[in-house]
Amino acid sequence: MDFVKDLQKLEKTRKSLITQLRKKRLMVRGSYLQYYRKCGKLNCKCVKGKGHLFRRIAFSDKGHTRTIKIPKQDVAWIKKVTNNYRLFTQLLQQLAQVNSQIKTLLIEARDEMLTATKILKDYL
Ligand SMILES: [Zn+2]
Repeated sequence: MDFVKDLQKLEKTRKSLITQLRKKRLMVRGSYLQYYRKCGKLNCKCVKGKGHLFRRIAFSDKGHTRTIKIPKQDVAWIKKVTNNYRLFTQLLQQLAQVNSQIKTLLIEARDEMLTATKILKDYL
């Protein structure tokens, strides 16, 4: 294992992740859902068809799943901004992994140097 090369590679990955995270994008937590549901009224036109179309986003709020109705004209926009949030969260997770790998490498290097230093002096 080449410590310097491994560290440089991780630093490069880290820099690239931060560059992507730095781009400010509009974002909304949640996943877009589209489904049909019958309203239950016996005289409604939906009795014969698939039901009424619902466009919503679902997201977690204090341990509960909540949904919000999305206006038809905002569907493309809401897909984009929820995707931005998902992407940002994924990048953050990758950054945390890289940071953890950098820390592990540095701890290994520290421990190697502790050992290498200790053997130089018999009082250590
Ligand atoms: Zn109906």
